[in-house]
Amino acid sequence: MKYLIRLTLVATLLPCPNVLSAQTQFEGGRALQHIVNQVAFGPREPNNPAAKQLTVDYIQQTLEPLADRVTLQEFSYRGLFGTNIWARIKSPSGHNAQPIMLGAHWDTRPQAEMDPDPALRNRPILGANDGASGVAVLLEMARVFANSPLPVDLDLVFFDLEDMGNINNLPYSIGAKQFVTKNPFYRPSAGIIVDMVCAKNLSIPRELYSQTKAGQLMDKVWQIAKQQKSGAFKHHMGISIIDDHLPFLNAGISVIDLIHYPFPDHWHTTADTVDKCSANSLQQVGDVLQQFIAAYKP
Ligand SMILES: [Zn+2]
Repeated sequence: MKYLIRLTLVATLLPCPNVLSAQTQFEGGRALQHIVNQVAFGPREPNNPAAKQLTVDYIQQTLEPLADRVTLQEFSYRGLFGTNIWARIKSPSGHNAQPIMLGAHWDTRPQAEMDPDPALRNRPILGANDGASGVAVLLEMARVFANSPLPVDLDLVFFDLEDMGNINNLPYSIGAKQFVTKNPFYRPSAGIIVDMVCAKNLSIPRELYSQTKAGQLMDKVWQIAKQQKSGAFKHHMGISIIDDHLPFLNAGISVIDLIHYPFPDHWHTTADTVDKCSANSLQQVGDVLQQFIAAYKP
């Protein structure tokens, strides 16, 4: 108690703090804890409805104290049931501008088809990186912007059923496609998908669909990464990757994909576990995204 009072006094005596010191900073360690918590539920895939429910509850309960609105959008597709989660944090300055969106998939792949051990290829993956890491960045970003100024409304969207691609002839990004179809009037001015961003040797080149269809947005993000001397963001072109940004790009909405490439060794294997994740990698992504959002001009 004494300590708290002293801190308050010091704060009042200091000269007017600059805008940055008034901001809550993204913490990679907190994001890493969100990964640990998700992985503890087990694989978040259609054969494991209990884990799916726990994950929806976890995302919803984490967001509810931080966001102005949290909505669940359920859907079905070829006998599968999915839930997209959509949270909005409103800009206190009351701009009437279109929101910006961060997106991540919260489901995990039911088959580890890339596992070096053929006996494990029918097992589900734990998805510490492929699934939980993107969710973790979004949840930590919710804490940041619940406590610091936002230039425009911020939407955090968590997509289900991204990672069913090529299983029983299913496509990738089922949840993201459903989201775009079910919300035809949703037009964020910019969006960023965050997928596989916790690996220790994180490498995010310029994904090619994003570069081709939303080049200006890519330039803004990579300029911030350059200013911050982020080693995770690479300045060369990557390849075209099918991910949750594509349904948005196809609908004419500028949404880019931050994704690790070449895919890490644990990609779609049973080795996609928390020990592969680094708080520092999450921090680099969080720092770039925080600055992008805080400096966004509607
Ligand atoms: Zn995947």
